[in-house]
Amino acid sequence: MISSKGFAAKTVKSHIEPFNFERRDPLPSDMVITIEFCGICHSDLHQVNDDWFPGIFPMVPGHEIVGRVSQVGSAVKKFKVGDLAGVGCMVDSCRQCAPCKAGLEQYCDVGMILTYNARDQQGNPTYGGYANNIVVDEAFALRVPANLDLAAVAPLLCAGITTYSPLHHWKVGKHSKVGIVGLGGLGHMGLKFAHALGAHVVLFSTSARKKDDALRLGANEVVLSNDANAMQKHAASFDLILDTVSADHDLNALTPLLKLDATLVLVGAPDRPAAVSAFPLIMKRRSIAGSGIGGIQETQEMLDFCGQHNIVSDIEIVPTTKINEAYKRLLANDVKYRFVIDIARAQ
Ligand code: NAP
Ligand code: ZN
Ligand code: ZN
Repeated sequence: MISSKGFAAKTVKSHIEPFNFERRDPLPSDMVITIEFCGICHSDLHQVNDDWFPGIFPMVPGHEIVGRVSQVGSAVKKFKVGDLAGVGCMVDSCRQCAPCKAGLEQYCDVGMILTYNARDQQGNPTYGGYANNIVVDEAFALRVPANLDLAAVAPLLCAGITTYSPLHHWKVGKHSKVGIVGLGGLGHMGLKFAHALGAHVVLFSTSARKKDDALRLGANEVVLSNDANAMQKHAASFDLILDTVSADHDLNALTPLLKLDATLVLVGAPDRPAAVSAFPLIMKRRSIAGSGIGGIQETQEMLDFCGQHNIVSDIEIVPTTKINEAYKRLLANDVKYRFVIDIARAQ
């Protein structure tokens, strides 16, 4: 077995504290990554708090992982020792079903295996990136562009791909008007990507203090979502609205802003269901859809795109001793715009 030194929530809603554990011995197609940085996603909070489903504890969160390959199995082809590598939200899937064969492993019919808070093919709990190493099949590891700041690349593995994928799926381009709802980890990447794709980008925020940052990050306009008049000015004008909000909020304030046949895409995952009024949907054949992370091939494409366009996340690096403080600040909407844990410094 491979010994890991990590940080875990021992029980639901408990603090994150040091936790030593073991990972499986690398299989022929596995490699070991020595982790350098791991981002803190709002999904980590949701899962430690059992917001979505009963979790597996102790839970080592973390699915925005970057580091260097320190060991490779005999069948590993894509990576060699010393290479940079990343791991996102999933570490395996059935690899046989139609979605898996189409490179959409996140929509696997059997269910993707999450990087943490799940069970691997052998039935053992998966543990995430708040740890000094991870064992992963090379098919679920990503190549990391060497020209980018490694710490700021980490959030691309979840916040990056989760916003990149729907913008591509719904074909956002130069003539699109795109709304991004919520300026947090996902939202700030949504602004960067939508801007890079040439769209006219509007940020919807509850925080007036974020306006200047939003404009710097790629928004052409900022609208306070509690200002009904300002919202009304954008009625029936959007091709796509990407909603990244992590808590309860009113979707019925957003649907009337879509054009005929346009879509509100939910990527934020509040714990409670939203009430949706049928009328704005009926009146212009509008849709509400969801989107989950992205497949491995698309995640690689996103990382390569970031390498070419010099896109990374705006981050605040935190030491492992301040993970709990970072969680509190994330819940209090006090982050610009992603916390990244300096794992290497703890070793
Ligand atoms: P985050 O950094 O905390 O950002 C969430 C943003 O939502 C906040 O910055 C805030 O923006 C806004 N917000 C928070 N509470 C609100 C409220 N009560 N009403 C209205 N707006 C509110 O979180 P994140 O890491 O970006 O994650 C966002 C959500 O996406 C989480 O639910 C997470 O689990 C989910 N997620 C989903 C996927 C997927 O595959 N679909 C992947 C990753 C994460 P303003 O201050 O600008 O209003
Ligand atoms: Zn995430
Ligand atoms: Zn599958």
